Amino acid sequence: MELIFATQNKGKLKEAQQICDVLGRRYGVCITVLPMPEKADIPETGTTYRENSLQKAQWIWERYGRSCFADDSGLEVDALDGAPGIHTARYCDRNFESGMDKLLHQLGERGAVQPQQRKASFQCCISLVLSADDAPQGVEAGKALFFDGECRGRISESKCGDAGFGFDPVFMPDAYPDKCMAELPELEKNLISHRGMALERMFKFLSSNDRNI
Ligand code: IMP
Repeated sequence: MELIFATQNKGKLKEAQQICDVLGRRYGVCITVLPMPEKADIPETGTTYRENSLQKAQWIWERYGRSCFADDSGLEVDALDGAPGIHTARYCDRNFESGMDKLLHQLGERGAVQPQQRKASFQCCISLVLSADDAPQGVEAGKALFFDGECRGRISESKCGDAGFGFDPVFMPDAYPDKCMAELPELEKNLISHRGMALERMFKFLSSNDRNI
C-alpha cells in the first residue's frame, strides 16, 4: 500500500520510511511511504497533536483523494509545565540550534539542574486516512484513524551527538539513560521513539484488519 506522508520535514520523512520498512517486515504489511507531491506549508491551527495531525492528513486527502498519514509531535518538559509541547516547531522557529540553547537556558533559570528535575517526553499523534481500495472492512474511506506514541526521558545538561533531527541532541531517552537521542544509531532511535511507537500501533491495526481488496 502506498501512503503519502504529509510532512515537509525531511528528517521525519526519512525516519518514517525506515520505521515502515522494519515494521512492514515484522507485521507482514507492505507500506511505501511517499513524500508530499508538492511543497506546501499546511496550516496547523489546532490545539492538540490530534487536531494538527488531522488537519495535515485531511489536506492531502481533500486535494489528492489518496491514502495518506500525518503526524504531529512535540517535546513536553515537566519543569516548564509541559512546554513547548504543541508549540515545539514554533518554539525554535525551525532553528533547532537556538531552540535547544533556549531550552537549556530556561531549565537553568528554573533551577532544574538535577536529572530528576529535567524529566521530559516526546509525544506524537498519527492520523491515517485510507482510500476505499486500502481501507479495511468496516473502516470508512476518508475517515481518519488515530495512533498515539510517547517516548519518556529527560533533558541533558548540554547537546550531544549529531544524528536524528530537532531536539535529539538534548533528549536522553529512558531506554538509553546515558545517551542523547542524537547519539543513537538510527535504528535504535526508531525502535523507541514516539513516532516509532505510534507507527507500530498503526501497523498492528493494519495487520489485524483485512482489507477490502
Ligand atoms: P511538527 O510535528 O512538525 O509540528 O514539529 C514538531 C517539532 O518537534 C519538530 O519541529 C521538532 O523540533 C520536534 N520533534 C518532533 N519529533 C522529534 C524527534 O523525533 N526528535 C527531535 N525533535 C523532534
